[in-house]
Amino acid sequence: MEILDVLFPARCTECGRFGEVLCLQCFPHRPPLIRDLDGFSVIALGAYEGALRRAVLAMKSGRRDILRAFAVRLASLVADDAILVGIPTTRSRRHHRGFDCGVLLASDVASHSSSRAQRLLDARGIPQHGRSGVARRLAIGRFSIRCTELISSRVTLVDDVCTTGTTMLECARILMRAQHSVVRALTVAVVP
Ligand SMILES: [Zn+2]
Repeated sequence: MEILDVLFPARCTECGRFGEVLCLQCFPHRPPLIRDLDGFSVIALGAYEGALRRAVLAMKSGRRDILRAFAVRLASLVADDAILVGIPTTRSRRHHRGFDCGVLLASDVASHSSSRAQRLLDARGIPQHGRSGVARRLAIGRFSIRCTELISSRVTLVDDVCTTGTTMLECARILMRAQHSVVRALTVAVVP
């Protein structure tokens, strides 16, 4: 136990009970929700409603402890050694939150599973200096590919919430252009 855990013991974000950030009464382990997109499935801890929605909103406003607790639960859904790629926050989403949830979730999930995280995607608006022509050509929509030297990999996309799936499909298309294949996506919640 770290010193901070002693000074500031974890409390459930929903009921305030000491012990865990997401207590089992408020956030019971349920079978994951699965939504099929074009070519791969999105696997989520639950529907974006009630206590889960409130916790996601608190995470988005900067609660790193909630993000870590979600990552532990998502890590139990990691099925193979596909590379975890977080979906970066686009400019339109960025001013609603303190940090890049998708990217941080991917690296936290990696630290609790046998998979590794890799930063393969950038949100547009990041300076393109020093990018290869290939990287520039691969950019579409709101995202661009970060690294084109990598050999083709199997990828699990990671994000906080899946709304319509448009963002995930956009990211999957870019990754496929760079010879990667998206095998699934993990999210905390899906909008029903
Ligand atoms: Zn609780």
